[in-house]
Amino acid sequence: MGRPAAALVDTVAPCHPLPQAAPRPVPAGMLQDLRERFGKRCSTAAAVREQHGRDESPFDVAPPEAVVFCESTDDVAWVVALAARHGTPVIPYGAGSSLEGHLLAVQGGVSLDVSRMNRILDVHPEDLTVTVQPGVLRNQLNREVKDLGLFFPIDPGADASIGGMAATRASGTNAVRYGTMRENVLALEVVTASGDVIRTGTRARKSSAGYDLTRLFVGSEGTLGVITAVTLKLHPLPESVAAAICFFPDVGAAVRTTIQLIQVGVPIARCELLDDNAVRAVNHHDKLGLREQPMLLMEFHGSPGSVQEQAATVQEIAREHGGADFAWATTPEERTRLWTARHHAFFSALQMRPGSRGVTTDTCVPISRLAEMVTAAKDEAVAAGLPHFIVGHVGDGNFHIAYMIDPDDPAERERAETLNDGVVRRALQVQGTCSGEHGIGLHKMGFLVEETGDGAVELMRQIKRSLDPGNIMNPGKIFVL
Ligand SMILES: Cc1cc2nc3c(=O)[nH]c(=O)nc-3n(C[C@H](O)[C@H](O)[C@H](O)COP(=O)(O)OP(=O)(O)OC[C@H]3O[C@@H](n4cnc5c(N)ncnc54)[C@H](O)[C@@H]3O)c2cc1C
Repeated sequence: MGRPAAALVDTVAPCHPLPQAAPRPVPAGMLQDLRERFGKRCSTAAAVREQHGRDESPFDVAPPEAVVFCESTDDVAWVVALAARHGTPVIPYGAGSSLEGHLLAVQGGVSLDVSRMNRILDVHPEDLTVTVQPGVLRNQLNREVKDLGLFFPIDPGADASIGGMAATRASGTNAVRYGTMRENVLALEVVTASGDVIRTGTRARKSSAGYDLTRLFVGSEGTLGVITAVTLKLHPLPESVAAAICFFPDVGAAVRTTIQLIQVGVPIARCELLDDNAVRAVNHHDKLGLREQPMLLMEFHGSPGSVQEQAATVQEIAREHGGADFAWATTPEERTRLWTARHHAFFSALQMRPGSRGVTTDTCVPISRLAEMVTAAKDEAVAAGLPHFIVGHVGDGNFHIAYMIDPDDPAERERAETLNDGVVRRALQVQGTCSGEHGIGLHKMGFLVEETGDGAVELMRQIKRSLDPGNIMNPGKIFVL
């Protein structure tokens, strides 16, 4: 499907440079050493390599030469030390749900799959902390801590791994209330690019001890080291939870409602926008029967009294902006049904155009500018006649417009990228960011320079060179070295 990543270089808009470095073959001796240590846990089967050389982005597969399934920190350190000796690329792999070309082996090398490192190592309910291996999935973690009356709020829709979420600085639907991975990771164990094992941070809630290496690795997209353990903050399950939906005449009205909610300080837990196309897709996929109009899907957490108070304020503000048919999802089953449908939105929409793939924007802007951003993106997509849908974590100022393109049609791909450029440029003009939560990967590399300037990207390069002098850790991502 589509074209190989390398073939895109001369056709995509200049904002999406792709690394052009030559592949770095895995030496036969290294492959032999991997096979000797890992046996069947080292695979060169085409299907396994292909599965590890792609993500949910529209790029075609760029498979690694081998995939190694690690089961311990020792395994990871051994592979990385071997790769460092041979100057071979290593690409950490969690659950493969990233959206920006993060996992493509653009220079070849070995995919280091940590999904079997999936044990909860240490729970401290009295301190609200937990330490997990990187392959633990977010739903698995929530199942394990639920009986303790606790939960881990970061929810990127997909059932991603905690290591991958830390590596992409993920957020999702609960971030407006509980923060992102940046706020919820306390400490890490990391295998550095030389194969050494280091620890960053502690279980203490705060620290002024030296450089904040935890925050350096959170969001580093596998380019600085492999995360082998993560200590997280947990949160008490709220006493009362209520979800509600409300429909609006257009996306602007829904977003203006959200802006006002945030400005008056309603501590809303989730506030998600779905445009008419997204509602149509989830209706089709999950048989929901919702009005096919822009809507907000909201959730309130707190004591029963505070939940009622929040909801009353929201209803009043929504009415001022033309919001109608405010309805509660009162039972846990109904709530789960609505949120599951929201999480299906991406794949439900792709199914509306069989064979399509999604080119997704991820801008995040200061909240006061969000309505104009969403409205402009919607108007342009409609004018361009490109199938699309919008979902957004609008309480954070973050929204995604996904263009559903025929990957075999270069003109369509280019139109989507041109629209994507426009969305990002407008966000940068109002001091927003090209990526609120997905990361840079391959797709947003050019935008990073525009957003931060050459000086900041050069400093990132210096950090990369100093921590990974052989450029073995997920090379060719975030910036061209
Ligand atoms: C339908 C859908 C909805 C989504 N919604 C959201 C959303 O709302 N919010 C959001 O933030 N994201 C969202 N995403 C994107 C994705 O789920 C996140 O980026 C997630 O954090 C990726 O985790 P993963 O385990 O799948 O990582 P992978 O895709 O396996 O890897 C992602 C990156 O992290 C690196 N990495 C993985 N594990 C490690 C490790 N142990 N050590 C070092 N580096 C590592 C990889 O090398 C790669 O660069 C969505 C994706 C889909 C498909």
